[in-house]
Amino acid sequence: MTSHAGPAFSLEFFPPRDAAAQARLVDGAKQMLVIQPHYVSVTFGAGGSTREGTLDTVRALRDMGCDAAPHLSCIGASQEDLRGLLQRYRQEGVRRIVALRGDMPSGMGADAAGALRYASDLVEFIRKETGDWFHIEVAAYPEMHPQAAGPAQDLEHFVRKVRAGANSAITQYFFNADAYFDFVDRAQAKGVNIPIVPGIMPITNHTQLMRFSEMCGAEVPRWIRLRLAEMGDDKESIRAFGADVVTEMCQTLLDNDVPGLHFYTLNNADATLAIWDGLAVA
Ligand code: FAD
Repeated sequence: MTSHAGPAFSLEFFPPRDAAAQARLVDGAKQMLVIQPHYVSVTFGAGGSTREGTLDTVRALRDMGCDAAPHLSCIGASQEDLRGLLQRYRQEGVRRIVALRGDMPSGMGADAAGALRYASDLVEFIRKETGDWFHIEVAAYPEMHPQAAGPAQDLEHFVRKVRAGANSAITQYFFNADAYFDFVDRAQAKGVNIPIVPGIMPITNHTQLMRFSEMCGAEVPRWIRLRLAEMGDDKESIRAFGADVVTEMCQTLLDNDVPGLHFYTLNNADATLAIWDGLAVA
């Protein structure tokens, strides 16, 4: 949609469970248009559980005039499934895709993993099937993917995705900007020159944040954990503190010329706008 000379902001949503939640999502997304998102993205349940929900939400956001990108994961999917989905997206005029491995739904054995094992295989597959039709985003992990053997191997695997044809990357969230700068330096030293956009997680709920962070290997610094724990169930204080902490980090990132910010909105306009409103760019 809009062309950006400065940082490009993007927003991530997840497919809502029902029609009422879909309507709330559209309302929230409309409020967030003040951010003038370069694009918006919609997550995908690994194994295809949200296939229709992802497409419906992409359509709803495109109807609002947004460039909307579906996430696509290869774990548990056959090449036929993936080919079919790529064709559908292409027919819909979708030009951007977030390509991921995904995580195996619990209870499914390793043999259900599918033909493509890693996100780099998926990027290669998308390029083979559809040439340059899609702008491909991939994930990056400044604090290392939790299953990686070490930071160096994880970086190698990231570089592999870029060489397979990724156009830009979105990071896992972090609360320590140095982890991001260090990752970008190391990636650039390996010859990576695509934009690596920080993924930004608002802080609104202590328990949920700790659970998510434990799963995805993002570190919540001790001082933040202690402050949140002290606030107990006081949602208002948690939101105010969370907005301060995350806004300050975003400003540091922007002051250091990051290519953009990708907000994990959790379909909650207030939390993202609380950060946005505190930024100099707003
Ligand atoms: P990969 O890049 O394939 O990496 C996965 C692991 O395998 C890493 O430890 C890596 O070091 C290792 N690895 C990679 N290549 C090789 C190789 N050749 N040999 C050995 N090891 C290798 N999940 C969803 O289910 N749906 C979503 O919509 C979704 N959206 C996301 C959006 C963003 C921006 C991010 C950061 C994550 C998202 N996730 C989503 C989570 C993601 O699917 C998980 O983090 C998943 O565990 C890894 O996906 P990946 O694409 O980074 O995998």
